[in-house]
Amino acid sequence: MNDLLPDQSPVWQYLESSVARHLQSYGYREIRFPILETTELFKRSIGEVTDIVEKEMYSFPDRHDESVTLRPEGTAGCVRACTQNGLLYNQIQRLWYCGPMFRYERPQKGRLRQFHQIGAEVFGLDGPDIDAEILVMTDRLWRELGIRDQVTLQLNSLGDSASRASYRAALLEYLEQHRDALDADSLRRLDSNPLRILDSKIEQTQVIVANAPVLLDYLDEESREHFDALCTLLDSMAVSYEINPRLVRGLDYYGKTVFEWVTDSLGAQGTICAGGRYDGLVEQLGGKPTPAIGFGMGEERLALLLDAAGAVPDSIARQLDVYLLAVGDVAAQALSLGEQLHQACGGLRIQRHCGGGSVKSQMKKADKSGAEIALILGEDEVAAGQVTVKYLRGQAEQQTLDVAAVIELLQREFA
Ligand code: ATP
Ligand code: MG
Repeated sequence: MNDLLPDQSPVWQYLESSVARHLQSYGYREIRFPILETTELFKRSIGEVTDIVEKEMYSFPDRHDESVTLRPEGTAGCVRACTQNGLLYNQIQRLWYCGPMFRYERPQKGRLRQFHQIGAEVFGLDGPDIDAEILVMTDRLWRELGIRDQVTLQLNSLGDSASRASYRAALLEYLEQHRDALDADSLRRLDSNPLRILDSKIEQTQVIVANAPVLLDYLDEESREHFDALCTLLDSMAVSYEINPRLVRGLDYYGKTVFEWVTDSLGAQGTICAGGRYDGLVEQLGGKPTPAIGFGMGEERLALLLDAAGAVPDSIARQLDVYLLAVGDVAAQALSLGEQLHQACGGLRIQRHCGGGSVKSQMKKADKSGAEIALILGEDEVAAGQVTVKYLRGQAEQQTLDVAAVIELLQREFA
């Protein structure tokens, strides 16, 4: 579980505010629900025979011996919250959330035990048009963040539960013939959850899987039409995608559309955003039958990608616009000038020097602060009602100006 230090927080703030603004511009509204839920909720939704439930959950008994779990993902809690609060009955909801998730995994680059996701869920829409909207929306988000070149979209359909069952039988028959060559984990899955073998990261197993029957050949009529319509919509919007018949996702509640946005730039942890349709989950958790689709994006991986792509704007990385020096016996005037600037230039990031010291030592701090401009207030300036402006980056000349002119300059520079 990582600490997020102040040097890294600007990237996260930029990411979270950009994604929130983006989702809200498509009519998504924020929902917040607890980090802790009953263990039962995750077992019933994610599925007993999944990596997450079998070996990754932080579960423990509370003081009354009820088993509770730190949420490993957002969808289950979101569905629980919406059902309990009557948000789903005869309504369409477009929702988003953001926050920590917990999985007991082997920590590595882009994979942590406390990680963070921004997720979105849509309830009450069953057509391929919303699936397409979500993919068009995420495609546009990557463009806005400047990482569209680094990601590709993978798409598959898992069909309905009947088509998955008949596919499962065909897959089992095939895998049984290759039993001897399967890894231990996959052997275990053979009886419990053979579809997950398709997703194996073990090379030897991948070789076997490459020739396995393909799920898309077993789709029921309705899922086939849904998938074709989705592909047609994406084509019409020129959103490029790759059909990956082995994309299955690690959670049991998915059916029909599933997708992943993946990148080559982060080594093995390539999936930055993943999701799909889960039309059966609301009912399974006690609500009325409600079609639904959603996705989650991994903030750690997105932050790494933004850094790697140099996509974080300089002004955000800098964290400060102005460093205000107070040289000599001018503490009161510096305080007052600082307040005047905050008042006149809303949003301007100003740090006022505290603790005295020579011009030289204060300038060193100003340089180190990352600010763009140093304002120097000394006893001479106070006597003349002026402020000295010094650009800390670039070649511009130092100048001494009236306060009103300084305000104008700052408003212009940091509009
Ligand atoms: P993976 O195949 O990488 O384990 P997953 O299928 O388990 O991912 P989801 O449950 O779909 O992941 O979560 C959505 C996204 O959250 C992932 O695509 C990834 O970006 C991120 N994510 C998942 N697990 C972790 C983790 N342990 N640490 C950091 N990010 C994670
Ligand atoms: Mg995982």
